[in-house]
Amino acid sequence: MKPLSIRVKLTVWYVAVLLASLGIFGIAAYFAMKGGIESTVDESLEEQAGGIEELMRGVLKDEPARLADELREHAELRAEGDFSQVRDQGGRWIYRSRLMTKYNVPVPNTARHSAYNFMARDLPLRVFVRELNSDGNAYLIQVASPMDDFYDSLNRFRWVVLLLSPLLLVLASGGGYWLSRHALAPVDQITRAAQKINSNNLSQRLEVPQSRDELQRLSETLNGMLERLEAAFNRITQFTADASHELRTPLALMRTTTEVSLRTSQTVSEYREAQSQVLEELEKTSSLVEKLMLLARADAGVETLQRVPVNLADCLRGACNDGRILAAAKQVTFRENIASSTLVMEGDSHALHRLFLILIDNAVKYTQSGGSIIVSLDKTDNVAVAEFRDTGIGIAAEDQSHIFDRFYRADKARSREFGGVGLGLSIARWVAEAHGGSIAVESSPGDGSVFRVRLPLLPA
Ligand code: ADP
Repeated sequence: MKPLSIRVKLTVWYVAVLLASLGIFGIAAYFAMKGGIESTVDESLEEQAGGIEELMRGVLKDEPARLADELREHAELRAEGDFSQVRDQGGRWIYRSRLMTKYNVPVPNTARHSAYNFMARDLPLRVFVRELNSDGNAYLIQVASPMDDFYDSLNRFRWVVLLLSPLLLVLASGGGYWLSRHALAPVDQITRAAQKINSNNLSQRLEVPQSRDELQRLSETLNGMLERLEAAFNRITQFTADASHELRTPLALMRTTTEVSLRTSQTVSEYREAQSQVLEELEKTSSLVEKLMLLARADAGVETLQRVPVNLADCLRGACNDGRILAAAKQVTFRENIASSTLVMEGDSHALHRLFLILIDNAVKYTQSGGSIIVSLDKTDNVAVAEFRDTGIGIAAEDQSHIFDRFYRADKARSREFGGVGLGLSIARWVAEAHGGSIAVESSPGDGSVFRVRLPLLPA
């Protein structure tokens, strides 16, 4: 079954609510009118019965024998039809009007000071009963009023409500449908615009209605989402393009070296020379592929860290041992200032070693011979801070926000010269963040750089 559109659902709800309201209103109004009419009639009947009672008390006191005549004369004074009758306790009629006789209105089983409805043939009557006790005699006074006119009006009202309701419902459902269509038209527009956006035109944005309502918020939210998607998509595209570019260069180099060697090499040493060039490129390429694989696994969330308690000082000392060799080869002074206290964190020692080595390796790469590097480790609060300070070439302010991006190299030529592809700091950042830490840089060109890694320690 085709799901109902919001427009139809809204209209159905609207009609249902209106139907319920009309029903409640109709029933409440009908009973309120009926109750109102009856209480007005009761009041006038009570007044009439009160008059008869007063008259009877007077007559019974002065000349009881004239009771019937007095009641008749009193009744004749009323211009409209007389509906009254009086009966004594012996069941004899003291007075019974012609209309009461005609409709044969009976005496109720129990005398009450109250009113009730009575259907006299086709004529609905409202009857009021009152008991009168005088000198040990009891009399029952009954007065009545025909209700046909009132009930006719009530019936008319009922028919008006019953006939008008469907008309109102038809009009309201039409109006409701039109209103919801009108209100939801921008949603259709947004849907159509969103359908046109695909990976080829991710830079397109939805038109934002300046209506300051949910629809404006919806369009702005979708645009925000598109912006993030576009940025992510561009990053992936750029990453793929950069990765293939970085792979193509060494592959081309290996191919050319091999071709030239096959064509021109005559001696074993010439072959060896070509082979070692190819091997060097192969090593670089394997390292690049390994880095790419690591980042791809990290992106996919499948690169798992083997978390165990790690003594950061030991881990950093291990990386410094490698760094010292690198620095010595380049005549760069290497010093370490590692806190003697044990700084333990929950982490993957292999990944942390890699993070530290990337930063030390960079410090060596970008520091001229004669320069110096200081690696230190300390803690503030419950956070370990590892610092890698060099007196190297430094990083321009505009590059600092990008150096952690993949394949970003502030100085491509110089980086490549040292075998860098611009993935080291991306990996370093991933390791730091995967451990709940962070990495930041402070640098000015010519004055060297400081990389600071903060890592959360286990509670002491
Ligand atoms: P690369 O393999 O090129 O070194 P990284 O991601 O490790 O890639 O570093 C990115 C860029 O940041 C480098 O190309 C270099 O321009 C800059 N950089 C990193 N570390 C330093 C440093 N200690 N001194 C100066 N520049 C640095």
